[in-house]
Amino acid sequence: MTVGVLALQGDVPEHLRAIEQLSGVPSPRAVRTPADLETVDALFLPGGESTTIARLLADAGLARPLIEKIRAGLPVLATCAGLILLAERLEASPSGPNPPTLGVLDVTVRRNDYGAQRESFEGPVAVEGLSGPPFPGVFIRAPRILAVGARATPLARRGQEVVGVRQGSLWGLTFHPELSSDPRVHRLFLEEAVGGPR
Ligand code: GLN
Repeated sequence: MTVGVLALQGDVPEHLRAIEQLSGVPSPRAVRTPADLETVDALFLPGGESTTIARLLADAGLARPLIEKIRAGLPVLATCAGLILLAERLEASPSGPNPPTLGVLDVTVRRNDYGAQRESFEGPVAVEGLSGPPFPGVFIRAPRILAVGARATPLARRGQEVVGVRQGSLWGLTFHPELSSDPRVHRLFLEEAVGGPR
């Protein structure tokens, strides 16, 4: 199995490091071109700035191949800006114009909905299928999931609020498991979503 991290902008090294720490998983590959994309069996979309990543995706000629590969079953774990890029629907955000999205995950999301950088926070998150204590969620200028469509199901909750969803092997989280030095979400995704039912 070859695991890739979309490496155009954002917290790419943190995802690479989180994957490298998992035992039994080969070294991950940075994905920057359509040729790189062809080689991976699962992909992580990092957090960062969704408007920038969307522009770089278009410049690299990666948007269309990525949509096609996701539709053909590529498992994806997307965090924060990555979730924004997967979403089918973005509500207008006070933080400015929205990026074009890949439109593959049946959720409605609003960018920066918890406020500015100084409103970033950490808090316990309950993740479906994860054993042990609650996951330490790191939220940085996080998007909010406003609605979960019929094809997606809640995967993670902070209190009553849904902060992660899955649609088969497409996972989208508003928080950053790559910043928690807790490998459980990365491991669960690779165990469950990769090769599992869609
Ligand atoms: N606010 C950012 C955006 O809209 C996402 C923040 C993040 O990925 N930590 O793209």
